[in-house]
This record gives sequence, structure tokens and C-alpha cells, in this order.
Amino acid sequence: MSTRHPDDATPLPTAAPGVQLQPAAYEKLLGALRESIARLAADEPFERLVVPPVISRATIERAGFAASFPHLLGTVHSYTGSASEWRALAPLIAESGPWHARQEITDLVLLPAACYPVYATLTGQDLAAPVRYSVEAQCFRQEATAEPGRLRSFRMAELVTAGTPAHCQEWREHWLQRVADWLEGLGLKPSVELADDPFFGGGRKLYQAAQRAQELKFELRVPVADGLPQAIASANIHKDHFGEAFDFTADGTTGHTACTAFGLDRIALALLHAYGPRPVDWPPHLGTALNGD
Ligand code: ATP
Ligand code: MG
Repeated sequence: MSTRHPDDATPLPTAAPGVQLQPAAYEKLLGALRESIARLAADEPFERLVVPPVISRATIERAGFAASFPHLLGTVHSYTGSASEWRALAPLIAESGPWHARQEITDLVLLPAACYPVYATLTGQDLAAPVRYSVEAQCFRQEATAEPGRLRSFRMAELVTAGTPAHCQEWREHWLQRVADWLEGLGLKPSVELADDPFFGGGRKLYQAAQRAQELKFELRVPVADGLPQAIASANIHKDHFGEAFDFTADGTTGHTACTAFGLDRIALALLHAYGPRPVDWPPHLGTALNGD
């Protein structure tokens, strides 16, 4: 057996690239981050929703994710054959052969970001005042690479709002600054950068240019390994994208949305990189920043 110290929070790799095992000390750190974010968000009336790691495929299609990011989407398949067909397929498991030849796509996909189910709950509503949600989920993305911080299964916390264009614009500016200050308080020095999303295929450059021109997405980047900065949080406006897709309005016109995302695993990895593998040995000011005591 390994002689890992119980205070060591360093995640363990698994047979699957981008899928890590998380020791108790790491989970404790994630819990402290979660509570610190909750304190940060305490002066706004966020409704907290716990989001499962799967979502209706129809919702993800309607949201535009399947069309724009087919390369990242993990689908849920299950067996649709007969018992007699299975008699022929089952022996293939032993040789890792195509035992899954009769699997077919289901009505579920793996959740790619925590905020998606929220927009669908607004369908048909006219929002008289902004709504706010605080969500967290285990997310999945079929990433092509697995450098430090680029996981396929990772934890994301998000603060989400929907309302008028002016509200969403102002809210995003506010939260971009607030998250930058929070990370500074943890001794991380984020670089704030205009960013785009990894759209797939032909229209990619056009979409990315439009996203940058409209300043829809800002990332806060911090090293998670030597010389390897990753986006550990982002602050985004989506304009009327989800209002159109899910048919909701604010003050009578198509609803706008904004979100700020905290990559909990990447924040944990950035802290471990900055301060070492044992959170119990970190400087006391960090305990104060994280635990609020
Ligand atoms: P990247 O630019 O690194 O590919 P992204 O722009 O696709 O990330 P978002 O869609 O904005 O990321 O997701 C919100 C946050 O979730 C990111 O800022 C990051 O902290 C976290 N995140 C995204 N993808 C991953 C991943 N593969 N592993 C770990 N955390 C991730
Ligand atoms: Mg990005």
C-alpha cells in the first residue's frame, strides 16, 4: 500500500486520462471553497439547486450545446437488444470487443456545465424581476488533452442570473470584479482575459470572433502547474441566447442571462500548486480567507 500522508490533498490519477481520485483532504478543500463562495454570494438572494451529473438530451439540444460542441458532449447509451442477442455479445466483454454493438443513445446526456438545467426551468415565464440561482454539479467534457487542470470529470459551481440586458451586463461586471478580488484574497493572482469558447467545425472562427467582439466571456487564469495557466473561473453574458432557446422574457422582451463559473477542481489545483500538497500546512491567512474565521 502507498504511504501517502492523510493530510496530502494531491489527487490520484486513474486508468482514464482526465479522471482523478480525490483524497479526503482534497474534498475538505473543495468544501471550504464551496462555503467561501457561498459567503461571497450571501448578499444576493440566490436560490440554491443541486444539479445531477446528467441532463435531458432535449434540453442540451435546445440550448445549442450539441450543435456547437459535439466533440465535448458525452452521451448516455444503454442496451436495446434482446436477451438472445446478448448471449452472442456477452462473451465479447472478456476480450474488450464490441459488446456494446446494440447500445443506443438515451434521452440523457452527461451534463457539460452546471447552469444548463436552470435556463430550461424558466420556459414560458415573463420575469418581472431578475432571478438568481446558485448551482453546483459534476460536469463531463470529452476533452482532447489531459494536461494538468484539464479533466474530463470535474466539479463546477455557478452563479446564474436572468433578467433584462442592463441587469445582466451590470451583474457580470460586478461578479468579474468580485471573483478577481476573491482569488486575490486567496493569494492567487489571476490574469483577467477576454476569451471565447471552443466551437467545433467550420463556423468556429466566426463564432469566436463574434464572441470576442461582443466581450461575452472573461476568464480568470492562474497557473495549475509550472508555466501552465488555466481558466479557474469565468464571467459570462449570453445575451438573449437562452431566452430565445427556452422562450422566456424579462419586462416583456426576450430574457437575457449571465453566469459566473468557478472551476472548483482547477481552483483547488491552483492552490495546491501555489502552497504545496498539504492544506493543513498552508499559511494561516489562507485558512482565514477560506474559512472566514
Ligand atoms: P478552457 O478554456 O480551459 O477549455 P472553458 O472556457 O471551456 O475552459 P467554461 O466553459 O467557461 O470553460 O467552464 C467554466 C469553468 O469550468 C472554467 O473556467 C474552468 O474553471 C472549469 N472547467 C472547464 N473545463 C474544465 C476541465 N476540462 N477541467 C476542469 N475544469 C474545467
Ligand atoms: Mg476557455
